[in-house]
Amino acid sequence: MNDRIHRREALRSLATFSLSIIAPAALVGCSKKTSCLDVTGMSPDEVSQRSQIADYVDVTPDAAKKCSRCLHYVPAAPNACGGCKVVKGPINAEGTCKLFVAKPA
Ligand code: SF4
Repeated sequence: MNDRIHRREALRSLATFSLSIIAPAALVGCSKKTSCLDVTGMSPDEVSQRSQIADYVDVTPDAAKKCSRCLHYVPAAPNACGGCKVVKGPINAEGTCKLFVAKPA
């Protein structure tokens, strides 16, 4: 009888401990931000144009100049990378570059 109680308490503790590890990991997964830095398949010239000429960054320091507010931005589904009419590769709605042109109001 006493062994059953100890075993049950041990299993309950193990389940609680497992949830305490899994739950935060799941929350991290939920809050993961979109990253659009994969330039796989792009030519060296395209990568150079993107990173050195346009100076594309995945997260803008200036919210007024984010890609989603740019005339050249081609939107995608939420949490997916969009595109750009002048910069090749995946484009983050929260990114920016030197070629930013504000959409007309
Ligand atoms: S031109 Fe630059 S700021 Fe505008 S959508 Fe393309 S990458 Fe973003």
